[in-house]
Amino acid sequence: VTDPSTIVAVAIDTPLRRVFDYLVSPELGEARPGQRVLIPFGRRQLVGIVVESRSHSAWTVDKLRSVVAIIDREPVFDTELLALLIWAADYYRHPIGEVLIAALPTAMRAGTPSIAQQKVWRLTAHGHERADAELSARAAKQRSVIALLRQVNEATTGQIEQQAAASVATLRELARRGYVEQVEIALDAQETASGITAPSLALNAGQADAVTKINASLGTFVTWLLYGVTGSGKTEVYLNVIAAVLARGAQALVLVPEIALTPQVIARFRERFAASLAILHSGLNDTQRLNAWRDARSGAARIVIGTRSAVFAPLRTPGVIIIDEEHDPSFKQQDGFRYSARDLAIVRAQRAGIPIVLGSATPSLESLARIQKQPETLLSLPRRAADAVPPRLTLIDLRKHAAAQGISTPALMAMRRHLDAGNQVLLFLNRRGYAPVLFCPGCGWAAHCKRCDAHLTVHRGSEQLVCHHCGAEPLAPAQCPQCLEPVKPVGQGTERIEETVAQIFPDAPLARIDRDSMRRKGELEATLARIRSNEIRILVGTQMLTKGHDFPNVTLVVVLNADQGLFSTDFRASERLAQLIIQVAGRAGRATQPGEVLIQTEYPAHPLLTLLLEGGYEGFAQGALQERQQSGWPPFTRIALLRAEATQPAAATNFLNAALRVAQQHASRGIRFFGPAPAPMERRAGRYRAQLLLHAATHGPLQRLMSTWIPAVEGLTEARQVRWSLDVDPAELF
Ligand code: ADP
Ligand code: ZN
Ligand code: ZN
Repeated sequence: VTDPSTIVAVAIDTPLRRVFDYLVSPELGEARPGQRVLIPFGRRQLVGIVVESRSHSAWTVDKLRSVVAIIDREPVFDTELLALLIWAADYYRHPIGEVLIAALPTAMRAGTPSIAQQKVWRLTAHGHERADAELSARAAKQRSVIALLRQVNEATTGQIEQQAAASVATLRELARRGYVEQVEIALDAQETASGITAPSLALNAGQADAVTKINASLGTFVTWLLYGVTGSGKTEVYLNVIAAVLARGAQALVLVPEIALTPQVIARFRERFAASLAILHSGLNDTQRLNAWRDARSGAARIVIGTRSAVFAPLRTPGVIIIDEEHDPSFKQQDGFRYSARDLAIVRAQRAGIPIVLGSATPSLESLARIQKQPETLLSLPRRAADAVPPRLTLIDLRKHAAAQGISTPALMAMRRHLDAGNQVLLFLNRRGYAPVLFCPGCGWAAHCKRCDAHLTVHRGSEQLVCHHCGAEPLAPAQCPQCLEPVKPVGQGTERIEETVAQIFPDAPLARIDRDSMRRKGELEATLARIRSNEIRILVGTQMLTKGHDFPNVTLVVVLNADQGLFSTDFRASERLAQLIIQVAGRAGRATQPGEVLIQTEYPAHPLLTLLLEGGYEGFAQGALQERQQSGWPPFTRIALLRAEATQPAAATNFLNAALRVAQQHASRGIRFFGPAPAPMERRAGRYRAQLLLHAATHGPLQRLMSTWIPAVEGLTEARQVRWSLDVDPAELF
């Protein structure tokens, strides 16, 4: 007997790297890829997503369980997006169910409909035939509801209350008598305007060239690099390209770094376009997120702007993808499903046959390496749009100059000069808190976190020390636990710089911008407004200051400590440092005022700093690319990192050694293994961490190995003692 049911492969939100086969009985209708289904799983019922229809299963039919219900009439993922997600799960070797679920707004991970629904009242057949005859002539309200519904067919409770002056009680009474019923209908996608409300600025030659080339590529896949310093007019280029995309009836997807999605950025899009915007970021609640997702999917939103995960936003008619600040680390997801939104966006554009524009003042070395191969895809905006003078970079040798609490004499003098001229000053230090170390001058003791291989940070006005790695907050000792001498904070964090500056420049209002001071909602916006109004004269902050914000009156930037990152074991550390310095320098002198950038260092002869000073980011990048090529690091090779952590010191290394032995039995030709080795900070939050690095000339051999190796690693007995994860193309080596 052949079973008339069809078989579907369903992805379920579990950490298992596989799909599950289910039967679909003919009464349920056809289950198509991308649809959500309700399925029995163990003793529970779960929401899963159909990945594939199959004609047969590796399991015999009588072992298969049946789909309980098909949730969606239309698939939640269209064919293209589903294929991209399946590709991503395969590329990153991540469980397919977790990948698909992560791409859905939270509300839809349960059964919420993918299309907006609306509850409306309408007449029943009985109501149509009998209501007028049966209703008493005195029931004026009831009669007017019936008359309204005859006229308009369907109306919401609100519309009826307004237009028939009837109450909910009237409606209930009519429903009780069987004249009307309330039903849910799909809310049609609103037709939206897609016009331009404000004209473009007159483009300069570089901008015009970029816009012409990108617009000529609409409808084909090209990866463009828009390379221009901060203020060179990249956003103006995006806006012009988007205008052309909208004119073709297509949608634009714009990805921006985590903290750059400010009301100002959104306002700039709103000012230019009458088109509706869907905004996707981590601050949305479930309903807002669901609505934005639906608008993107239905095409009601012509422009979709979002942070990292918006790379998975559904689009009805994709026309272009834009990634602003493409070098930004926040495009890489660092836990769970570890993907690079930039890399996936490129794959998405390729599959959709549309151009992608990567914009940056400090492009990633990956993007610059691509330009070496395809120089015609480089679009440069060499000058600042309003012909502003580029800032001048100078090193201050900290070994020669006295520094009062982290600020050297030449820097203090420059601050005085710029403040006296009525300008603003920005001090950059990538370390929050008061001081990074609590130290005993008597015996050399320093406060360490009990659970991490790290010093505890002193925070001002707090009885507690804080571990920036695990969040522990032990009490601060007043005296040394070893020799009972008084202890003292050593080194500078942003809080201490704030304190020092307030003492030296008591009349200059100051704002500190870091994660601690900007914790409250709206605080950053309020502070930025005070900076723009020139009320604030001195800004002290971490890398929060380096993204997206314009400070037209800042003419002096002081990088207080350039030395963090000069000697890191991570091959990407110098790239990060160069990007940070150039990005923060880009905040100086944007309008007509020339900017000055002072970089404090104890290593003025360090090649990275010399390259930056002599050749700017360009010069640095050329040197760094050569070095990467010679030493065989990405982007010239490919790597993957298997990480493990465990409460027992040896467990992580044991697991990685077992994984390494298995790898050597698999097809691992062309792959080199480094480690297992302890992570640079071996103990964090009480767990011992280790890692195994895989290295190959191209991705192919890695992919071949991982496809059979990772399932084997999953089954290792040693895996039960550890938490492990795989990071393909890791951004950080710890
Ligand atoms: P970026 O995105 O590269 O930082 P923006 O597009 O924000 O640069 O431009 C920086 C400033 O220059 C903005 O105030 C913008 O209005 C202005 N601007 C951009 N393009 C032009 C232009 N062609 N003519 C005059 N001003 C421009
Ligand atoms: Zn001591
Ligand atoms: Zn800790």
